[in-house]
This record gives sequence, C-alpha cells and structure tokens, in this order.
Amino acid sequence: MSTTSNRPADHPDHQTGPVIPGPARRSWRYRLAARLAPSLAAADTVIAEVISDLRTAEERARRWQQHAESFAQDAADRASERDGTYRERAQLLAWLTALHPASAVITPAHDGEGTEILYLVAGGWQLSWHISAQDADLFRHVTVVDVTDRRAQWDGHGTAEKYQRIRQHVRLLALEGDVDRMLLDATAARASLPEADPPCARCKGSAIDPEDSFPGDIFSDFPEPPALEPCRACQFPAVSEADRA
Ligand SMILES: [Zn+2]
Repeated sequence: MSTTSNRPADHPDHQTGPVIPGPARRSWRYRLAARLAPSLAAADTVIAEVISDLRTAEERARRWQQHAESFAQDAADRASERDGTYRERAQLLAWLTALHPASAVITPAHDGEGTEILYLVAGGWQLSWHISAQDADLFRHVTVVDVTDRRAQWDGHGTAEKYQRIRQHVRLLALEGDVDRMLLDATAARASLPEADPPCARCKGSAIDPEDSFPGDIFSDFPEPPALEPCRACQFPAVSEADRA
C-alpha cells in the first residue's frame, strides 16, 4: 500500500483550486529573498559599476568626438588656407606672365586633372610652374602651345634651382635700378652746371690769332722764334668790332 493513497483528501498537495499563499509559503519566499539578498546586492554593485563604466566610456567617446570634429575643422581650415595660398601664387604668376609676355607660354600637363605647365624666361633663365585647373582662368592672356613647342621644353631645372634663378634675376634688376638712378643723378648734376662758352671760331679757343701770329721756324738755318699775337676775335673784341665797322 502506498502512503500517498493514505493521505487525506484535503491535504494541500491534492487541492485543485487556486493556491492561497499561507503564512508558511510567505515565509518560504522571504527566506529565499533573504538568502538571495546578498547576491542581489552584489549584482547591484556590479550593475552600478557597469553603468559607471558605460558613463565613463560615453564621456570618453564624446571627448573623442569633439577631438575628431576639431581635427576635421583644423584640416578643413588648413585645406582652405592652402587653396588660398595657391590662388595667391597663381595671381602673382599671372602678373609675372603679363610682364614677360614674349616668353610666357602655357601647355597641358596631360595628368588627367587639367593641370597646365607655365613656362617663362627671365634674365635668360627658364622658369616653370604647375598651374591647377582651378587657377587656369587667371592665365587666359598667356599663349597656349603644344607640348612639342620649343618654348615648352623643360631644361631640367628643379624647384631650388628655379628660386635661385629668380633671386639672381631680382639682384640683377635691383642693380639695374641702381645704375639707372646713378645715370639719372649724373645727368641731373650735369644739367645743373652753367653752360660753358662755346670756343672762339677764329682761334678755336687757343686765344692765339691764327693770321697775325708767326709760329716760328726753329729748324731753318736761320731760326726765328715764334711771334704769337692775341686772337683778334676773342682777346680784343672791342678792337675787332671797330675793325669790322
Ligand atoms: Zn679767338
């Protein structure tokens, strides 16, 4: 005989209706809760730590985001500054080509980006620059030539050599300017001097009369000393006038 069958019909295990928690069950739950409480508290601590870590990570991510944004802004600023510098360089080159119209030519670089190469000769030296497609509009006045053109043949100069040539040319121009100024000063100084009297037409300025004077004859057997008379025209102008009258 099984013990189960001996249980009374009203034993709780046999109840089929809704279970109403009795004081015993509640205390069982409390006991379980009490047992789990330290673990829950530990879990809470872990959760709090995880939340704190997440917040720190969020804060870090936010700071990185700011860094990234500021870096991107910096890069954009620099790019804009670089573009501005290139534009200014192109403006100055356009001016230079206008000053050297005879030797300035432009030819395509054939790099697929619309770049052109500008050549010009200054002081006998070839100079060249790459001009980007964005700045091509500044060089409409420059003669466009084919890459085979004699004036578009690169002589092999590098960047350092190019700027050395420019400095040499600048020194030469400055020197020419100095010489020009010295010549102008000399001309001005000469112009400020009083006009000298033109030499006398009769004696050519010697003050010795060519007709009245005797040059002497020191090589003859009977040498005679020269007899020099003052010029009638310039030495005795009053007498000369009277003679004429
Ligand atoms: Zn004279």
